[in-house]
Amino acid sequence: MSIVTVGTVAFDAIETPFGKTDKIVGGAATYISWAASYFSNDMNIVSIIGDDFDMDELKKLKARGVNTDGIEIVAGEKSFFWSGKYHMDMNTRDTLVTDLNVLLKFNPVLPASYKNPDILMLGNIDPALQAKVIDQVTTRPKLVVLDTMNFWMDIAMDNLKAVISKIDVITINDEEARQLSGEYSLVRAARKIATMGPKYVVIKKGEHGALLFHEDNVFFCPALPLEEVFDPTGAGDTFAGGFVGWLDKTKDISYDNMKRALIYGSAMASFCVEKFGTERLRELTQEEIQIRVNQFINLMKVDITID
Ligand code: AMP
Repeated sequence: MSIVTVGTVAFDAIETPFGKTDKIVGGAATYISWAASYFSNDMNIVSIIGDDFDMDELKKLKARGVNTDGIEIVAGEKSFFWSGKYHMDMNTRDTLVTDLNVLLKFNPVLPASYKNPDILMLGNIDPALQAKVIDQVTTRPKLVVLDTMNFWMDIAMDNLKAVISKIDVITINDEEARQLSGEYSLVRAARKIATMGPKYVVIKKGEHGALLFHEDNVFFCPALPLEEVFDPTGAGDTFAGGFVGWLDKTKDISYDNMKRALIYGSAMASFCVEKFGTERLRELTQEEIQIRVNQFINLMKVDITID
């Protein structure tokens, strides 16, 4: 199968209690692609960068088999820049800077080879652009997955709701689910979000795991208790990349397989937070991933007899 993803390819500056980075490579589509590249061998990015971007980074993605032909490079423009600061509680962060820069000029045009993906992964970006990407695929993908964040809810809620009505799976964090639905209870929030369009609602709760809602079913995958969370940036996107990567690899988009995808997404996210930026995602082996997934399975397993 194949995946097309749209999202930011960006520079980030991150501050956590463990350290601080200058500009490092980040962006939603970057994390999604690194994570998915361990599963999918037909991963394609649509994005935009300025000529200040480190072009070696694109070579590294290509070396992992990711197609970067859909990344537009605009001369004389700066790449999207985001800066955030985490407190001791790594579940919350303050956004310090969001410089849209070249994103303001983005009018995504899918290369011909991108027009028939099996899975369309709409990464975090302006919802109007997510909609433009949906409009360009010639046959409806088997699965359309969307990730977003509070920034877009604050400034583009109507466009966001319009695109949400066209998708199959939404992945958002707990606070965003509350903001989108106006409901505090996550069960109620998921139910309300499902009435907006998606048949599957994934709510990410950081170190408290992730929930998958579908009709009257709910599945829970915990997060792996880690001794040290170094930098949570990109964990949500990495989760999404692992999730779609697994579905793509197994060619199975059933609810049962989505439960497995939730575990693979969570496993990839648990690696992401172990180092700054995308560093940890660049050095993984299939064996490490398998060991990590087994740790999740053991974490979730219980023998119990009820008389
Ligand atoms: P996450 O920690 O999974 O929410 O994703 C963090 C990544 O999202 C960073 O690498 C940022 O470059 C990117 N990002 C932050 N804000 C935005 C935004 N408003 N739109 C698109 N991407 C963003």
